[in-house]
Amino acid sequence: MNHIGHYLGGKVVPGTGKTSPVFNPATGEITGQVAMGGAAEVDVAVVAANAAWPAWASTPPLRRARVMFKFKELMERNTKRMAAAITAEHGKTLADAEGEVQRGIEVIEFACGIPHLLKGEYTEAVATGIDSWSMRQPLGVVAGITPFNFPAMVPLWMIPVALATGNCFILKPSEKDPSASLILAEMLAEAGLPANVFQVVQGGREAVEAIIAHPDIAGISFVGSTPIAESVYRGGTHVGKRVQALGGAKNHLVVMPDADLDQTVDALMGAAYGSAGERCMAVSVAVAVGDAGDRLIAKLAPRVRALKVGPGNDPDSEMGPLVTSEHKAKVSGYVDAGVREGAKLVVDGRGLTLQGYEGGYFVGGSLFDDVTPDMSIYKDEIFGPVLSVVRKNSLGDAIDLINAGKFGNGTAIFTADGGAARGFAASVKIGMVGINVPIPVPAAFHSFGGWKGSLFGDHHIHGPEGIRFYTRYKAITQRWPNSIRAGAEFTMPQIGR
Ligand code: NAD
Repeated sequence: MNHIGHYLGGKVVPGTGKTSPVFNPATGEITGQVAMGGAAEVDVAVVAANAAWPAWASTPPLRRARVMFKFKELMERNTKRMAAAITAEHGKTLADAEGEVQRGIEVIEFACGIPHLLKGEYTEAVATGIDSWSMRQPLGVVAGITPFNFPAMVPLWMIPVALATGNCFILKPSEKDPSASLILAEMLAEAGLPANVFQVVQGGREAVEAIIAHPDIAGISFVGSTPIAESVYRGGTHVGKRVQALGGAKNHLVVMPDADLDQTVDALMGAAYGSAGERCMAVSVAVAVGDAGDRLIAKLAPRVRALKVGPGNDPDSEMGPLVTSEHKAKVSGYVDAGVREGAKLVVDGRGLTLQGYEGGYFVGGSLFDDVTPDMSIYKDEIFGPVLSVVRKNSLGDAIDLINAGKFGNGTAIFTADGGAARGFAASVKIGMVGINVPIPVPAAFHSFGGWKGSLFGDHHIHGPEGIRFYTRYKAITQRWPNSIRAGAEFTMPQIGR
């Protein structure tokens, strides 16, 4: 049996206590056992990271960037290996897994620019003979807690930025697909990162609680479901840590009557059913405005019925299985609930079995029409291949619906009307907005994050917001004895004197 250990002290080490099974979602077979760490492993990691931190923090940014350049090169060379590890434990298609690795590499590319990104601001002569400048310094030892759905990309939203800014980083990956974390550790070591600057503690709730409680962890980046994001944010900030906690989502795509319907349907297919809907930026609600609804359903339904569902390593598959049997049961249960609550089930993905993969966690694409905001399929994040169509009379009604939601991750509008798109972007209370772009995930040099229940904290992730999150701002004011002597001053120093 494949034992998936921690990465501590520069090597993979087995856990000492409990383990948790890791499955191949396409077959249902147990393929490994992951160590489930707790306070002891977190403490080992923090003590080692704390000792490594002063040297790493004082390493010139240019040299830290060189490690990032090498890391990027190694990740590029190992993309297929990483994608295979993701597909084997997560279930998504290999092409999708490669796409996730590529989006992660883009954050490394951003971090390669760290010497430029860490430049502060300087003012000569804020007062006579006095100069002032600002600089950003690393927090110290920081931790990242990541979800199952992007086992490489989400850790890479954090790691390159945290390391390039001079922090030591401890990753606590999802226990459902932990192998990608060890490949990241191997690549970073090979790239020349000093020992203990990056470590991995495997586990679940116990490890997370130990991270929150540890006094020598200065910051936590969390990505996962909303209730846990909120509790990590509250727990961490309560003990004085800096925390950014990204949560769940329910993303709406507004279809205006003037939208190019073929383009919209293509976009909806990928956004709702890609990665079996297990994306925080998946579109799970299409809001059809005016007379767009009937035309949309007529074009969408046959496409959903024709979805190619299969194992992730079959190049013909468009959509793989769900991550676990529990999750499969949960998603099917939501389809049951939608029917019970009176929505019209246009395409039913329940009960799908595939020859040769009878033990796999497959659910076919499902499509509901006439969904209303009181239904659980509308309110809850299903995180599966289930798209709900809600009908609204006007764009204003669609915006009111979206703004009343408890999540605020992503949204999109499909239209030919620039004025409608501009008004939508301006008034919608959502962190990431697409205009004729279904999944508006910002590029690595911008920042990713939602509003409301989709993000707790003050900073979005990666890009310029990531730099701010992983650093503290310091302002310095200097005068030298040979500049003008002012004598003792007892009034508030005044600029320009
Ligand atoms: P999850 O909340 O179950 O797990 C996230 C992390 O928390 C994992 O590392 C897990 O081990 C840990 N954890 C689980 N239970 C815990 C507990 N009781 N106490 C403390 N820690 C615990 O999320 P998931 O199922 O792995 O991922 C799917 C969720 O993540 C979805 O809600 C999705 O929308 C969200 N997500 C959000 C974003 C975003 O950017 N906003 C990105 C990806 C995923």
